[in-house]
Amino acid sequence: MATLAEVLEERTAEAAPELIERIARDRIRCYACGHQCPIPEGAVGVCKVRFVKDGRLHVPWGYVGGVQCDPIEKKPFFHAYPGSRAYSFGMLGCDLHCGYCQNWVTSQAIRDPSAVVPPLSATPEGLVRDALRSKARAIVSTYNEPLITSEWAVAVFKEAKAAGLVTAFVSNGNGTPEVIEYLRPWVDLYKVDLKSFDDRHYRQLGGRLEPILDTIRRLHDNGFWLELVTLLIPGFNDSDDELKRLTEFVAGVSVDIPWHVTAFHGDYKMLEPQNTTPAMLLRAATIARAAGLRYVYAGNLPGQVGDLEDTCCPGCGETLVSRRGYIVREMKITRDGKCPSCGETIPGRWN
Ligand code: SF4
Repeated sequence: MATLAEVLEERTAEAAPELIERIARDRIRCYACGHQCPIPEGAVGVCKVRFVKDGRLHVPWGYVGGVQCDPIEKKPFFHAYPGSRAYSFGMLGCDLHCGYCQNWVTSQAIRDPSAVVPPLSATPEGLVRDALRSKARAIVSTYNEPLITSEWAVAVFKEAKAAGLVTAFVSNGNGTPEVIEYLRPWVDLYKVDLKSFDDRHYRQLGGRLEPILDTIRRLHDNGFWLELVTLLIPGFNDSDDELKRLTEFVAGVSVDIPWHVTAFHGDYKMLEPQNTTPAMLLRAATIARAAGLRYVYAGNLPGQVGDLEDTCCPGCGETLVSRRGYIVREMKITRDGKCPSCGETIPGRWN
């Protein structure tokens, strides 16, 4: 019986020319993610889904590992089309290997033999049709790391934009200048998991901090609507000092970037740390506000974090979007993104 890697080898297309550089007669550099692998003939990249064969870089194409229609708040985007539906699809594989991944069945499908997900054939037209049938406002590449499958996402998003859908990436942010430039015309919303502010922690997860910080700056400067999430893991990334440095970095890019701090529960290979408590989220939120961030949210513990699920006007304090978990309970923000009480403009994509 064919292995998953062999099955996926059949479902490929050639890499976008913008994302490769031929650095030797038999070696191609891939720029789809921050690893920038120099891949020799016959070898795979760190992500294990992009490989060089017959002098060409082959990349994933023509399948999904799963699809689902979710509230856009689940991605989470809180400043983009609140209350709308987000049609979500993923492929397989990741360039990192986080021990606590909540999508490990798809992200670690090729590394970990216990993650068994068969690919399902798909076309961009079929996915967009399905999204429209599901009454989605947005279509989102998620579940695996979308950067490593950027060509397929762009093919889907070209169809999606022609059909009037909003497009989004839910990503670890381990990007490159080349891939951001490639995605810029096609991706509207971008969520980055900023997992830590310590390069040693990132190396444990299989990455480095600097490419992620660089990607965050570039996404903001290039006009993507950007929201950040940090999963707060007790004993891993929750020290006051690390949170202070992390949130000061975000505020240095823009105080208007929404920052979601979310609660950890044991998953996959990381079962040891205790679960995050509401008090821990509130402490992190206090640090973020002291750093200057104007939109701080606490996630994964619905109903236990006071008003940290709501969007409040930083001008007058009015609750503009009231939420419980992924459910929007009340929305007062105007269609052009203003507070109806004081007229303050709230950054985001509202209409
Ligand atoms: S996507 Fe990243 S990990 Fe995969 S081949 Fe390209 S640079 Fe390497």
